[in-house]
Amino acid sequence: MQAEAIFTGTEMLLGQIVNTNAAFLGRELAAAGISLYRQVVVGDNLERIREAIDNARRRADLIIVSGGLGPTEDDLSREALTAALGLPLVEDPAARENVTRYFAARQRPMTPNNLKQALLPAGARALDNPHGTAAGIFLEHEGKVYALLPGPPREFEPMVTNQLLPRLELYGARREIILSRALKIAGMGEAAVEQTVKDLLHCENPTLAPLAKPGEVTLRLTARAESPEAARALIDPLEATIRERLGEYIFGTDDDTLEGVTGTILAARKLTLAVAESCTGGLLAHRVTNIPGSSDYFLGGMVTYSNEAKVKFLGVEPEALAAHGAVSPEVAAAMARGVRQAMGTDIGIGITGIAGPGGGSEEKPVGLVYLGIDFRGRVEVRRELFMGQRESIKWQSTQSALYLLWRSLWEQLPQ
Ligand code: ATP
Ligand code: MG
Repeated sequence: MQAEAIFTGTEMLLGQIVNTNAAFLGRELAAAGISLYRQVVVGDNLERIREAIDNARRRADLIIVSGGLGPTEDDLSREALTAALGLPLVEDPAARENVTRYFAARQRPMTPNNLKQALLPAGARALDNPHGTAAGIFLEHEGKVYALLPGPPREFEPMVTNQLLPRLELYGARREIILSRALKIAGMGEAAVEQTVKDLLHCENPTLAPLAKPGEVTLRLTARAESPEAARALIDPLEATIRERLGEYIFGTDDDTLEGVTGTILAARKLTLAVAESCTGGLLAHRVTNIPGSSDYFLGGMVTYSNEAKVKFLGVEPEALAAHGAVSPEVAAAMARGVRQAMGTDIGIGITGIAGPGGGSEEKPVGLVYLGIDFRGRVEVRRELFMGQRESIKWQSTQSALYLLWRSLWEQLPQ
């Protein structure tokens, strides 16, 4: 079953409210195995809503309209549907009952315009709305299904779940589920990831879709099948293929974060961590300590922003600063070593870089960052050149530091 959805409301076009019904409907239809091929937002205008319905019914089997079932002049969805299909509006006892019941329960008088909500296109059935006056409208007409639902989310959402989806099952919506698994990748850019899995991007079931955030790429594998087990059986071989190619960059799945994944390993292996930060100003320590239980492995961090602080608290050699500059592999390594020794930990991390917008030069541009890690005396340095604004460079630096940590744990610990 192929569906299209039309969301009515000028306030959405003006950016005054967010179309949360769209996100909700998308999730629910996906979970029910109904393909939603298009969503459009239309203002409260009779002709434009009619046209949107008319367009949608040429392509889809199921046309869902959100909003515009209220009693006021700008509530036009039922009129637009009847105009599109050439049907009359007739009073429906169940829809009338929905309105009168609502006012009776609140002991409030009903205004005459509310009776507009008792009208349905001929042949339609009312969908019960326990949370408002307007019944929903369910109509099968010339092989297509139309569902008109009230706009307020507290009315829309239960009507989708409790009224619409059960009815669609009867109308031949296939009982399929859609299952997704996300593989989280760090240490590799979006373009490089895409290149590596290019031949897999055109698969149909499961599908593979990349999504990039600063410092992180997600590959989402999505399968549709009759059961979660069957969907997993489709996803597993594709995941195995991707892991063969990108395994050393895949740090986790679904909701995993680098700080969470590394924290779990540090805790399990009883290792301790300390960090020395310059350009990230404490963001790495912040992210590490966002993980509950991080006190088991995180002993402390220092924000050594000035050269003096690097010398005084981390033991960075003034000669190294003079010879190579604060943003250099030598200083990143010395910061990692210095903080590890100062705090007496297994692992020390040092970050030094240029977050911008000022302070860059031809030789050392904005975005140049060195990350050092000292793992029980074995020191490694990573060089990065990030793009973006100051905050994004800070974020990407911590992402790279956590990736370096994860990678070191992976390489240096027996599996
Ligand atoms: P009412 O009887 O309340 O007028 P209605 O079916 O006519 O209901 P609309 O007039 O389109 O619905 O919308 C009523 C309110 O519901 C909007 O002002 C907005 O707050 C909310 N709403 C409508 N559509 C959406 C949507 N797609 N996403 C989130 N909220 C929405
Ligand atoms: Mg309204």
